Amino acid sequence: MFWRKRQPEPVERSEEAPPPSADQAAELEAAVEGAAEILRARARYAFFVGDEDAATISATFERWASHLLVRSPPPGASREDAALPVTRDWRGLVHYVSGHARREQEWVHGSVREMREAIFAMVDALGRSSCARGQHDALLRNRLATLNGAVQSGSVDALKREALAVAATVTAIMEEQRLLADRQARELEARLHVLTEQLEQTRREGETDPLTKLANRRVFDVSLTRALAVASAVGRPLTLLMVDVDHFKQVNDEHGHPAGDKVLRAVADGLARAFPRCSDMVARYGGEEFAIVLTDAGAHEATSLAARCLDAVRALRIDVGLRVLAVTASVGVAVARPGESSAELVARADRALYNAKRGGRDRFVDASPVEDTSRAA
Ligand code: GH3
Ligand code: MG
Ligand code: MG
Repeated sequence: MFWRKRQPEPVERSEEAPPPSADQAAELEAAVEGAAEILRARARYAFFVGDEDAATISATFERWASHLLVRSPPPGASREDAALPVTRDWRGLVHYVSGHARREQEWVHGSVREMREAIFAMVDALGRSSCARGQHDALLRNRLATLNGAVQSGSVDALKREALAVAATVTAIMEEQRLLADRQARELEARLHVLTEQLEQTRREGETDPLTKLANRRVFDVSLTRALAVASAVGRPLTLLMVDVDHFKQVNDEHGHPAGDKVLRAVADGLARAFPRCSDMVARYGGEEFAIVLTDAGAHEATSLAARCLDAVRALRIDVGLRVLAVTASVGVAVARPGESSAELVARADRALYNAKRGGRDRFVDASPVEDTSRAA
């Protein structure tokens, strides 16, 4: 049976398209937020691809996300474009994302090919060395047969001549094998060096937040759990500071996303400078939030450390082009309790941070003694 596709009813077209219904508008907004969240995820898990480093790729995806959300100029927009009202550049976004996916695929294929070539070189080297050994064995067997003949002939001259020939053959074989082994070792070393570099770079980038170069959230989670276990095993205190930049959205809104990024980098550097002990850990927890794990610091030190953290942020002067910005942060402090899990400790520090925000920002709240004590330092 043949079905005739029903032709759509001719639609009366008014001059202007009707405004979207509330349902359509809500769906469009959800779609835009979903697309921005996907771009953010790509930014969070960016890795280096060929010549482009992870930070650049991450920043570009972040910029596309904010282009969709707040219509900031898309990556690559010129200064003149930036002055114009921005409509969402869906075509440019699709072009960037598909181009990036292609570059990623090429890079991954290239890396796999290099790995395969290194393994092949190893197999080839083994094959060549056993083949060379086979040829040498045959040569030596011939020499030994001649030597055996000389032994049978009873001629001392022939014996001496053949014995010297065997010694020369063995020496030559050994020398040849040494040269071959040296060459193969050098070839393998060069290939393994390239692979090791790639693996090392991948490992480093997997642990570092590309924008701030601080430890990322994954490393923070693992390190806090370990540090807590060690602290409780040796009976030493541990303090966690959760730090959130105040009114950071305004920085993005008023000065643009790149300026926001610059502020985040400056805050990260300021915090890292303020807590330089190698046993302290400053990590980017996410967005404009940082986490600081201070080992060997308990209730006595916690408040002065939180004050140091506030001062480090207040002291920053960040040149973002037309303006020099100063920012503040709010801090939630929690001293670990015996037997407390890392999730519980983070939750307490988070609640304290929330109270610091509610208390007026630019201050810390110590969750440890009394859950709700707010102190402006
Ligand atoms: P509060 O004082 O309550 O913390 O307000 P806030 O504006 O700092 O907090 P809010 O959660 O409203 O906004 C945080 C903003 O941080 C929203 C998000 O777009 C922005 N952001 C998150 N990650 C990045 C980033 O990597 N770069 C930039 N430039 N902005 C980011
Ligand atoms: Mg904030
Ligand atoms: Mg926040």
